Amino acid sequence: MNATGFSPKSATTDDIDWEKIRTDFPILKLKIDGKPLVYFDNAASSQMPQQIIDRLVRYQTAEHANINRAVHYLSEIATMEFHRARCKLQQFVNAEEDREIIFTSGTTDAINLVMHGYGRKFIKAGDEIILTTLEHHSNIVPWQMLASEKGAKIRVVPINDKGELEIDEYEKLFNERTKFVGLIHVSNALGTINPIKRMIDFAHQYSVPVLIDGAQAAPHLTIDVQALDCDFYVFSAHKLCGPTGVGMLYGKATLLEAMQPFKGGGDMIASVTFEKTIYNTIPHKFEAGTPPIAAAIGFGAAIDYLTAIGIERIAAYENTLLDYATACLNEIPGVKIIGTAAEKTAVISFTIDGIHPHDIGTILNQDGIAVRTGHHCAQPVMQRFNIPATSRASFAFYNKKSEVDTLVAGIKTVQKVFL
Ligand code: PLP
Repeated sequence: MNATGFSPKSATTDDIDWEKIRTDFPILKLKIDGKPLVYFDNAASSQMPQQIIDRLVRYQTAEHANINRAVHYLSEIATMEFHRARCKLQQFVNAEEDREIIFTSGTTDAINLVMHGYGRKFIKAGDEIILTTLEHHSNIVPWQMLASEKGAKIRVVPINDKGELEIDEYEKLFNERTKFVGLIHVSNALGTINPIKRMIDFAHQYSVPVLIDGAQAAPHLTIDVQALDCDFYVFSAHKLCGPTGVGMLYGKATLLEAMQPFKGGGDMIASVTFEKTIYNTIPHKFEAGTPPIAAAIGFGAAIDYLTAIGIERIAAYENTLLDYATACLNEIPGVKIIGTAAEKTAVISFTIDGIHPHDIGTILNQDGIAVRTGHHCAQPVMQRFNIPATSRASFAFYNKKSEVDTLVAGIKTVQKVFL
């Protein structure tokens, strides 16, 4: 493992029929205004293959019941399948124990869980929380709320002109008041892969726990929470070809046990009287109420689907698209790629001189091309580059080079329309 936790360049993609893989995704057959869909908004939400759609249908048609609460057939099946999904996630991130995996409603929910469960219990007035300029708002706003409630302080790691973290500055931020680090593994706005292993190790020299926001890393990089030694790792299913409404928090068992619950309600208790509630053990302590059972089972199916292809192969293939698209966009006068880190996943944020990103997105849409335009919930990144927004093309393993050509042609059309 290198400093970023992964080396995609070593994997081979030759043994995979990527064109055949495309046929797993019914949505890719869509036409938008008569034009074939070119879906380049994968960093926001990826698409779902038929295998996972089928798994969800099977659950709803033959396995659905509430879990943990009854001895009847359906409840036992649903409970078992829900548990299997947890075990699949445990394996996917190589957690030591299945009870270290908490189902949440997504990345945002998982970060809020840690903020309430860990932060509100252990962060005090005068303490410092380190975040980075690259963070998604999901890993900024909860910590700001905590800081203002507790009188704690947020300290921010700067980035250079390529969109890479300035690690020397990160290391200088540490002192005896540092009590927490929140760190994005891969930037959703720029694609930068951060050297999280090195950063985690450094924080641990100060006994500071580190939460990794892996929302953009899990679809592209092999995650090994034990090798990384991170304290918390979070991501959402909907960026991994899974359903919306479910995500995952990995936490070291000792930390999860020490934390207070985030939400109160059914299933998170061992016993309740009006005088006193005794909380359940982990993971249940953090899963109040009926969890997203169907979505969690779909999440498990998504993990099966991706691991059958192989995350390293996926990353290596996506890198070929990234390299190709980077070279093509660099050749178009007036197009500027924002985020040129040495280590990147397949995300290209760009601007076109004289044209607002929303106009770019609107014209590209007329050619069937779906890109995201805006600040990508990463306004501090936009502020750093002194721009209001970018257009972002983000690739998945079911995209292909000819679609990049369509994007390039679309960008030239945009320029003809506006310039
Ligand atoms: N963190 C990062 C890096 C993201 O890219 C996203 C979503 O785009 C989130 C957090 C929030 O994820 P969710 O909306 O699934 O909670």
